[in-house]
Amino acid sequence: MALVNLIPLEPRSEPQPDASHGAIVHDAPMTDSPKHGVALHLQGIGKRYASVAALDDVSLDIASGELVALLGPSGSGKTTLLRVIAGLLQPEAGRLLFGDVDATRLRLRERNVGFVFQHYALFKHMTVAENIAFGLRSRPWRKRPKRAAIAQRVRELLALIQLPEHGERYPEQLSGGQKQRVALARALAIDPTVLLLDEPFGALDAKVRVELRRWLRKLHEQTGQTTVFVTHDQDEALELADRVVVLRDGRIEQVGTPEEIYASPASAYVFEFIGRANVLEGRVGGGRFSLEGQAWQAPADGMADGAATLYARPHDLAIAPADEGLRAHVTAIHRLADRIGVELALPGRARALELDLVAAPGVEVPAPGSDIGVRPLRFRIFSADGAQDAR
Ligand code: ADP
Ligand code: MG
Repeated sequence: MALVNLIPLEPRSEPQPDASHGAIVHDAPMTDSPKHGVALHLQGIGKRYASVAALDDVSLDIASGELVALLGPSGSGKTTLLRVIAGLLQPEAGRLLFGDVDATRLRLRERNVGFVFQHYALFKHMTVAENIAFGLRSRPWRKRPKRAAIAQRVRELLALIQLPEHGERYPEQLSGGQKQRVALARALAIDPTVLLLDEPFGALDAKVRVELRRWLRKLHEQTGQTTVFVTHDQDEALELADRVVVLRDGRIEQVGTPEEIYASPASAYVFEFIGRANVLEGRVGGGRFSLEGQAWQAPADGMADGAATLYARPHDLAIAPADEGLRAHVTAIHRLADRIGVELALPGRARALELDLVAAPGVEVPAPGSDIGVRPLRFRIFSADGAQDAR
């Protein structure tokens, strides 16, 4: 029974973290981790809960040393996929390979994964150093490193997470961000084949989150640890990951580098999920996209005639003279720390448009109430069925 291994061996009187929030430990030797050269292959993974397809035909390759973010709204299947990789859940369909090894039927403890969850799962009654050592100490004695080797490993990890003097503290004496760094060190102590992080910064405040994700990115560059990071926060995914996997209702919607995902969203769904978007419903006819009541048109080469929608980011709209581009009316100006939001109304359209100006010295801000032209500099057009697009 694999889950037995999640429960600390001593002392038994203290309340223990529940299995789903604990660190996953394993009993493989510390020295023969096949980490380097190992990739993770997911082939056609499917997992249902009653009528819900939590995962539907998910196929993905993760290269050794890669940091991949699973990004999607709540309920899109991120946690389920992570638990399938960990061996906490058995998929009904598909295969999972760790390198060349078929891991589909391998138990949790045989997979050698490290896991960090959103909610602090440190053992309260253990010091920081004891927490980090936990996965190594709880191995069967034949596979357990020597006491001095464990102490050395703990020192290295405390230095890595930049808490060299905190080994003797208890979790309650740490900040939220420090606790998550310790949880990370505990997951890394076992030298995992893959590190799985499920919204690890989700419970922290915004500023600490940003600091920690930058710190984690640097740490990853140092360690080259193959990592799967789950988040519903697009900024976090884009800033942190080598590649982003966008999930929607248990299916992969797009896989790409952060640049690809942001600049070339494969669907209207990804476009809207990944950043702020202006949405303009119109029509394609004869290879041109047009909007009712507007003279401005965009090329839509190769797209079939019919209903279509143009998507443009606020910073990809530019102000033009009133007789050029889209005719728009300035309804409000929003001054933010680093940008100026120009709120616009287009004749006959209920949905407002947003145009961003960089809040730089000397930038010309249109007056509220004035009429201006708006030129979409970069945009994508998706047909109503999502099958075709143009940019
Ligand atoms: P995410 O982590 O992206 O928020 P999850 O993987 O937790 O999504 O859930 C995916 C889908 O599976 C959701 O519809 C969720 O309600 C459902 N689900 C997850 N776990 C269970 C469960 N133990 N029992 C029933 N349905 C579940
Ligand atoms: Mg989740």
